[in-house]
Amino acid sequence: MSHPVIQIHDLTKTYIMGQTKVHALRGIELLINTNEYVALMGPSGSGKSTLMNLLGCLDTPTAGRYALDGKDVSKMDDTELARIRNEKIGFVFQTFNLLPRQTTLENVALPLVYAGISRKEREARAHEVLTSVGLGDRTGHRPNELSGGQRQRVAIARALVNNPKIILADEPTGNLDTKTSIEIMEIFEKIQAEGNTVIVVTHEPDIAEHAHRIVRLRDGYVESDERNKEIRLASDPDHRYKQGLSL
Ligand code: ADP
Ligand code: MG
Repeated sequence: MSHPVIQIHDLTKTYIMGQTKVHALRGIELLINTNEYVALMGPSGSGKSTLMNLLGCLDTPTAGRYALDGKDVSKMDDTELARIRNEKIGFVFQTFNLLPRQTTLENVALPLVYAGISRKEREARAHEVLTSVGLGDRTGHRPNELSGGQRQRVAIARALVNNPKIILADEPTGNLDTKTSIEIMEIFEKIQAEGNTVIVVTHEPDIAEHAHRIVRLRDGYVESDERNKEIRLASDPDHRYKQGLSL
């Protein structure tokens, strides 16, 4: 059975800019189950990145509750947040954020350095995830020797290397052409089908169509939250059976 991996109640985030306050989130209610694939949409400035940063434990809310995997993280200090983030979250950004002087393999293995894993194991694991995103033959390349789509796949491999439960991607296809965007979305679908929870911010309806559920923000509120298609639960053997029949 799936259970809520993300439970959010009355979450608010107010940025203070000198004398002015920016109410980026104004009382978000959201439950996301394990293994769901959610597209987060909404106009620019509606609070999508702010929400993603809170979900990813990169920032703390002004008020409200956020329980991640049953644990209240809304009041944790930076050290605790960093630990939870390394353990449970894989983050993918629009701008890839790769280290230019490091090889693909080194970029992907980097999070494992902080986890205290041996070099040999790090390289083996990095190679494994790079292969899973179709880049097993690019491990020695540097970011500037790769296309935009390949760079984003390296960033996805880096997000996956710790085996996180939740993958958060903030406009991961914003810098990519349509064909490459579809390839990237297919990778997210594969990640979801393997049992992970995936949340992707996108402006493009075609991209959002890949998700099970579409949550729309407006002015810091959830404007709508709609089921898009049937969830394919990796943990549901009956469903796998049904899928098998339809092949
Ligand atoms: P979106 O990702 O949907 O475009 P954001 O979450 O980036 O929206 O921004 C929501 C609101 O919060 C906007 O008004 C934005 O200007 C403001 N904002 C975002 N980040 C900061 C910040 N670090 N400091 C001050 N205001 C911010
Ligand atoms: Mg944004």
